[in-house]
Amino acid sequence: MSTPPAAVVVVGGGMGGLTAAWELARAGHRVTVLEAGPAPGGTVSRARVGGLVVDVGAESYALAGGTVATLIDDLGLTGATVTPRPTPAWVRHRSGAAPLPGGGWLGIPSRLGAPDLRRVIGWPGVLRAAADRVLPRRVGAGGSVGTAVRRRLGRRVLDRLVEPVIGGVYSTPPTELPLERLAPRARDALARHRTLTAAAAEIRGGAAAPGAQVAGLAGGMYTLVEALVAGVRTAGGTVRTDSPVTSLQPNGDKWVLHTRDGATPADAVVLAVPATVGGRLLDRPVEAPATGEVLLCTLVVDCPALDAAPIGTGVLVASDVREVGAKAMTHATAKWEWLAAAAGPGRHVLRLSYGRVGDGELPGVAAFPRLALHDAADLLGVALDLDALVDWRLDRWPVGGAAASGPPALPAGVAVTGGWVAGTGLAAVVGHARTTARRLDGVLGVRSATHGQGLR
Ligand SMILES: Cc1cc2nc3c(=O)[nH]c(=O)nc-3n(C[C@H](O)[C@H](O)[C@H](O)COP(=O)(O)OP(=O)(O)OC[C@H]3O[C@@H](n4cnc5c(N)ncnc54)[C@H](O)[C@@H]3O)c2cc1C
Repeated sequence: MSTPPAAVVVVGGGMGGLTAAWELARAGHRVTVLEAGPAPGGTVSRARVGGLVVDVGAESYALAGGTVATLIDDLGLTGATVTPRPTPAWVRHRSGAAPLPGGGWLGIPSRLGAPDLRRVIGWPGVLRAAADRVLPRRVGAGGSVGTAVRRRLGRRVLDRLVEPVIGGVYSTPPTELPLERLAPRARDALARHRTLTAAAAEIRGGAAAPGAQVAGLAGGMYTLVEALVAGVRTAGGTVRTDSPVTSLQPNGDKWVLHTRDGATPADAVVLAVPATVGGRLLDRPVEAPATGEVLLCTLVVDCPALDAAPIGTGVLVASDVREVGAKAMTHATAKWEWLAAAAGPGRHVLRLSYGRVGDGELPGVAAFPRLALHDAADLLGVALDLDALVDWRLDRWPVGGAAASGPPALPAGVAVTGGWVAGTGLAAVVGHARTTARRLDGVLGVRSATHGQGLR
């Protein structure tokens, strides 16, 4: 006897929620996504700036693990996949600026003899880092990434490489990123190798080329959101925007969700919202990862000197650099051919981000765009003033660091996915969402066949 479709409501239309919704809709369930904002996508978002349609949230995905690449294939978007121009990003620290050494992982170098590493940390830094090879395994074990790097590789590797990279990717200091919260693949490599450098080499799979770790989509990452929404709808599902869920109530062995438009019944619920929202809907305290906010300022400028991409695809800024407020800048038209072609010669897109988890106040909105123009000029080594500015915009995003250590105890019929439990980054979020949806599909099939048992 075939199993009747279940009504599944997904709360949150970011990448976690949409991926889970698509998987469940394809499996034959009646899926409704309820998204609070005016558009789906969450922190994958786009806008028109200076006549160009650009990503104003996530703009690339990690190739490691293959989760996003597989989703892109499954959605039929393989042909739109693009890789960044193969020039290294730079790192700016108190004593200067240099290209990021190739072959590193989270800023942890894999080749201590490489000249590009020496250029960033100098001979004293290299000699100190070599202690990693002789220190006993227990040194730096069990704490945070920051502690492990400081103890094994020294301050220069921590301050000039690991802190800027982790600050740029996770918006969090390395001391706030526990080793145990790293992705399973990274934890396995760390457990297998005595030295951090050997673990980094394994995680990078020997790839030394810059840009070899990420890819994007021609037209921007938002095309992935559009494809997922179309996929949910084609499979018979619904995506409703401007629909914040205000409560989640049990109804026998089912659920009712409330929005301002009324009640939506569900056989099962997937929560793909930030931890604070999830905890409120579940009416229980949950372990939330450290969170904060970042400001992302997108500038479109006319500056022919930037055609030469003076700092490659962008620059990560160490927190000890006083003259620049940004923590990272992406030179988007140097990074992506499709965007450079759309902009034309002499016109450039720059993305500057501000704020880290645990940082003090973010700069005030009134400081923009002058602050971003000043920082971009300093980081790029060119003159940039208001005359060069074609257009700009400012976006404010919530950010979380590592995933919570485990999902909260969940009532029957409720699953949780998204950054709260998966951690930061599309690779982690997509992989977790697909696994969660498949597990839920399996349980829903079993429940329908056996009538009314819990989903856990
Ligand atoms: C500026 C920025 C740049 C980034 N760049 C990259 C990058 O280049 N590569 C990369 O891999 N990762 C990047 N990330 C991280 C990546 O975007 C996220 O890890 C991922 O998109 C998170 O997806 P999510 O679905 O878990 O959460 P979110 O995107 O936060 O989505 C959660 C959704 O839930 C909705 N919601 C909240 N409350 C309710 C409610 N009560 N009812 C209904 N809906 C609700 C929100 O409106 C939101 O749409 C970036 C993040 C930021 C902020």
